[in-house]
Amino acid sequence: MSRFANKIAVVTGGGRGIGQEIARKLAAEGAKVAVVSRSESSCSKAAEEINAEFPGTAKAYAVDVADHPAVQDLAKKIADELGPVNILVNNAGVTRDTLLMRMKEEDWDTVLDTNLKGAFNTVKAFMRPLMKAEDPRIINIASVIGLIGNAGQTNYSASKAGLIGFTKAVARELAGRCVTCNAVAPGFITTDMTGELPDAVKEAVLQKIPLGSFGETTDIAEMVAFLASPAARYITGQVFAVDGGMTM
Ligand code: NDP
Repeated sequence: MSRFANKIAVVTGGGRGIGQEIARKLAAEGAKVAVVSRSESSCSKAAEEINAEFPGTAKAYAVDVADHPAVQDLAKKIADELGPVNILVNNAGVTRDTLLMRMKEEDWDTVLDTNLKGAFNTVKAFMRPLMKAEDPRIINIASVIGLIGNAGQTNYSASKAGLIGFTKAVARELAGRCVTCNAVAPGFITTDMTGELPDAVKEAVLQKIPLGSFGETTDIAEMVAFLASPAARYITGQVFAVDGGMTM
C-alpha cells in the first residue's frame, strides 16, 4: 500500500522514539520524509536506518525547533531539496519534570519553547506551501498529560494543553484552505523519554491503564498515518487519545 506516494512529509523529533517510527511509517508507504531533530547524530542515524529499509526516502535535518529563524531557514531548505510539503508532524518534545515548588524558570522555558513554540515556528514556516499542497495535513503530538494534568509536570502539561488549543485554532484558521490540523495524545509509550522514569512510577502508571500494558511507538505511528492519509480528509480540530483507555 502506498498511501503517501509523491507526498513530502516533515517529522520533527524524528531522531528516535515515536518520531522515528512516524517517519519510518510514512516512508514505508511512499513519502519522502525530512527527519528533523536537535542533534545531527540522531537525525542522521534515524534517516540512515529508514533509508536502509526504504532507499531514498529520508533526509536528515539538524534544527532546534525552538529557534524561530532556524525553522524558517529549514522550510526554505526542505522546499529546495525535497519539494513542497504536504504533511507536517510536530512531534519534537522534551520533559523537565519536577514539582512546581522546585521548578526553575529555565525548566519552564525549555519545555514551553520546544513543545509549544516549536509548533508555532513550524506551522508559521510551512503554512504557505501547505495551503497549496494536495491533501495538506498538520498533526501535533500532544499527550494525555495535556488533558488530565500530572503532579510534577506543570510545565509539560501546560505545553501540551497549549498545543491542543493551538491545534484547534489552526484547524479553524486553515480549514478554508482544506488544511486539516489534528492532535494525537499518546498515553504511556515505551521510548527513551519514559525509560528515564523510576520503576515505582511505571508500576503506578500501569495500574491506571485498562488495556494493561504500555503502548508501542507503532501504536502512535498508525494513528498519525491514518490522519495524514486522504481517508482522513473530513477530520479536523480533533484530539485522539492513544492511551490504552487511560483517559476514557
Ligand atoms: P524522545 O525523547 O524519545 O525523542 C524526542 C525527539 O525529539 C528526539 O529526536 C529529540 O532530538 C527531539 N527533540 C527534542 N527537542 C528538540 C528540539 N528543540 N528541536 C528539535 N528536535 C527536538 O521522545 P518520545 O519519542 O518519547 O516522544 C515524542 C513526542 O511524543 C514528544 O512530543 C512527547 O512529549 C510525546 N509523548 C510521548 C509519550 C511517551 O510515553 N513516550 C507520551 C505522550 C506524549 P535529539 O534526538 O536530537 O535529542
